[in-house]
Amino acid sequence: MRLNTDGLIIREVQTGEADRLVTVLTRDMGVIKAFVRGARSIKSRSLSATQLLGYSRFSIYMSRDTYTIDEAEPIEVFFGIRSDFARTSLAMYFCELICELAPEGADCAEILSLVLNTLYLLANNRLPVHQLKAVFEMRLLSLTGYMPALVGCEVCGKYADDTMFFDTESSQLFCSECKRPVHAIELTVGVVTALRHICLSDPQKIFSFTLSNSGMKALADISERYLLATTQRRYKSLELYKSFT
Ligand SMILES: [Zn+2]
Repeated sequence: MRLNTDGLIIREVQTGEADRLVTVLTRDMGVIKAFVRGARSIKSRSLSATQLLGYSRFSIYMSRDTYTIDEAEPIEVFFGIRSDFARTSLAMYFCELICELAPEGADCAEILSLVLNTLYLLANNRLPVHQLKAVFEMRLLSLTGYMPALVGCEVCGKYADDTMFFDTESSQLFCSECKRPVHAIELTVGVVTALRHICLSDPQKIFSFTLSNSGMKALADISERYLLATTQRRYKSLELYKSFT
């Protein structure tokens, strides 16, 4: 059986002299693993289409539970990312997060749109890198079942306070007057508003907000801490990214 779908390569592993096993975030089949046969059998222009960060139209052959890509037509290779180590490592981090969080075989169209939009903005230098990273982390967590409780203070329900506190362990928000967990992190109202915007807005609006430099830094910090607390693991690509910034 043959299937045609578009998708983004989010992982690649060399499996033989010329063969590779790639992980693809597809529009129609969620996350799948597929073999790419050697350069002899796949046209050379299909090579970049099946490398990490290649967004392409794939022709996939399915036999029992094995998928093989036999044709790939590149749609976008995000060239602007590959010329810069920090951007490349950040894009690799986004791919690693999808491998960790996206469900296999389930509908991932919204996750695909999120990562394609983020990579486009990253490749074209459209927004601060801090902002792209925070939006991607928080929105991906929200789409995969880890949306934090941001509606108001967990105890009294207060919607906005000059200073609020977010607890990454319980993913709950607290006002300045109520009792809160000792490790809850202090946030300005601007950062709380940005978090709500990222997690709750329509997909096409999630990048449309501004914050001061210090606010953006605080947003990036809380987003990363929440992601690490939620997924409970380390990311090599994140450590690599930090070594370049
Ligand atoms: Zn309260």
